[in-house]
Amino acid sequence: MTRIVRLAARLDEPLLVTAPVNVRYLTGFVSSNAALQVDPAGDATLYTDFRYAEAARSVEDVKLEETARNLLGALAERLAGRRIAVEAAHLSLASADVLRGGGVELVATTGLVEALRAVKEPGELEHLRRAATISDRVFGELAREPFVGRTEAELAWWIEQAWHEAGADGPSFAAVVAFGENGARPHAHPRDAAIPEGTLVVVDAGCSVAGYLSDCTRTFFTAEPEGRLLELYELCLGAQGDGLAAVRPGASGQDVDAASRVAIGEAGLGERYGHGLGHGVGLEIHEAPTLRPESDSVLEPGNVVTVEPGIYLPGDVGVRIEDTVVVTDDGCERLTTVTKEPIQVG
Ligand code: ZN
Ligand code: ZN
Repeated sequence: MTRIVRLAARLDEPLLVTAPVNVRYLTGFVSSNAALQVDPAGDATLYTDFRYAEAARSVEDVKLEETARNLLGALAERLAGRRIAVEAAHLSLASADVLRGGGVELVATTGLVEALRAVKEPGELEHLRRAATISDRVFGELAREPFVGRTEAELAWWIEQAWHEAGADGPSFAAVVAFGENGARPHAHPRDAAIPEGTLVVVDAGCSVAGYLSDCTRTFFTAEPEGRLLELYELCLGAQGDGLAAVRPGASGQDVDAASRVAIGEAGLGERYGHGLGHGVGLEIHEAPTLRPESDSVLEPGNVVTVEPGIYLPGDVGVRIEDTVVVTDDGCERLTTVTKEPIQVG
């Protein structure tokens, strides 16, 4: 069954898909100005303007309607008087006003296409595996690069180039390279600050292959791994192992998240692990399902999620260890497999 047919089976009224990533998922068509109307019977109409029409003609199983560049204005005219479901999380208030102003009755929906995207097909898994394999290679090479004396920004640029050289299409997000107190910020920006000896360096990076993304974090030592930094690292690694062990079909996002908090909580550092355990990855770096305390996700085979506990000591250091895994019939399989042994970099 095609993705459009599977989506149609879940609809009560025609759905106007406007999120570019969802249009891409359903049709393979990449455009910043397109909308896909899917009817409950399974018919689909792709709307786009002259600039994309040529490419849109190759999309199978959809009727193409070329519109003016003002796509929403054109849709307001074409759909006037009809009741249409829209993606409430992606349609701006201004766009909704244009449609309503044209006499379209809007029905808010959320997560319909996202729910399909959360369960990966074999072809999608192939792209995700390829991205993860490239990630393993680049993280392996990174561990042999000199760190001490280079700036966070320099290493982030090294990583960005390495993705291209290793055969990826590019980065999946701006790489995080953060030592010391910057590593204590989960979403740190690389600074023009030279990495010193004797600290921890958090590196969170990923690449893109055919639109599918990888996500991996490793924390490196610029000293012999020992003492309190090694204890912190091993606490985080243990928590990550507990999270990985809890990932299986039927497990809730809340329970998997909770499993990763036990050891860190017992060490008195629960407050220093202030984010969720993980998130889905696919065409977007954060997508369904979620692993966090307020998650309402229940895992199923084919979900691809990250498992990434962290411990952040403000003004001091941070550590995070992250793998991307696919949920299997009885547990999970790691897609990112580069070593998690504590590594001293030069
Ligand atoms: Zn990450
Ligand atoms: Zn992540």
